[in-house]
Amino acid sequence: MKKRNETKAEVVLTGDRTTGKLHLGHYIGSLKNRVQMQHQYESFVMLADVQALTTHFNSPDQLRHHVRQITLDYLAAGIRPEKCTIFIQSLIPEIAELTVFYSMFVTVNTLRHNPTIKSEAKEKGYKDLYYGFLGYPISQAADITFCKATLVPVGEDQLPHIEQTRRIVRRFNQLYKPILTMPRALVGEVPRLVGLDGKAKMSKSLGNAIALDATFAQVQESLKGAVTDPARIRKSSPGYPEICPVFSYHQAFAAESADEIAQGCRFAKLGCVECKERVARRINELLDPMRATRAEYDARPSLVDDILQTGTAKARSVAKRTMQEVRDAMEISYF
Ligand code: ATP
Ligand code: MG
Repeated sequence: MKKRNETKAEVVLTGDRTTGKLHLGHYIGSLKNRVQMQHQYESFVMLADVQALTTHFNSPDQLRHHVRQITLDYLAAGIRPEKCTIFIQSLIPEIAELTVFYSMFVTVNTLRHNPTIKSEAKEKGYKDLYYGFLGYPISQAADITFCKATLVPVGEDQLPHIEQTRRIVRRFNQLYKPILTMPRALVGEVPRLVGLDGKAKMSKSLGNAIALDATFAQVQESLKGAVTDPARIRKSSPGYPEICPVFSYHQAFAAESADEIAQGCRFAKLGCVECKERVARRINELLDPMRATRAEYDARPSLVDDILQTGTAKARSVAKRTMQEVRDAMEISYF
């Protein structure tokens, strides 16, 4: 029998917290890469409902709703269930088990100094950190290693977590037996898409995003309200595209005409209204086919259930195999 990794060179895993709808930042930072890679490599995408609980433990009902919505986002964006295993994190108990084992050799200080943990804690106003929140980079290591992923397509904010996973893999392999695979991050074309407010990254929990299921009119409206170069009050004043969030959307979604847009802005020939309308058109062109595919799946809820159940069962069988190897390596497989 062939081993899994002999047929395809890389194993790809990524996921999204089920805290809200996916947006353009997810698409350009990670999802686009996943869609391309599913044709080449063994691929897994995870609905990270446990990781969502680290900040949303008081509203599990919301997470349930978003599991379905994000599945529709995946399917709409081009994830094909026959090519890529879509699964629900909380239904893979081996991930929780691995998290416990790895947590024995990761220090609290290392977690406290993780830059993404620090900035997310600040953003959320946490003073005293919840144990689960502080430890989520460890659970992420469990997500990545249960399927022996080698490649993890992520946005820039996830890099410290992949680094943490690499340290866990190295340590586990030294302590016990070298059975875990070393993963590496693959950052998308745009490592951090800025939000409509121009301040933070586009994020589903900050209300500064264009969702992948936005209607034609919502895209136009969102862009109308987007922050631009603040020094540019009227069309006749020259702008600085490099500091304008809307220009960064041109670069991300209409790269071939970005130079022309930059010139128009710098030499005060193109006004912000037209500039926004042009990028809104391009974003709508990108989202249009997604809207059609989403509607097809949305009309067939039992098919979506089937996709989730089949994917989760497949992920579970992979997880069981890895768990056995981990227990053997740690010499805690007793019978
Ligand atoms: P939350 O605010 O609930 O954490 P989020 O928008 O940060 O939501 P996540 O589920 O945490 O989304 O991230 C999923 C993936 O998408 C990660 O790989 C992350 O790096 C990437 N990502 C999220 N936002 C952006 C962005 N604005 N630009 C590029 N990549 C992003
Ligand atoms: Mg996040």
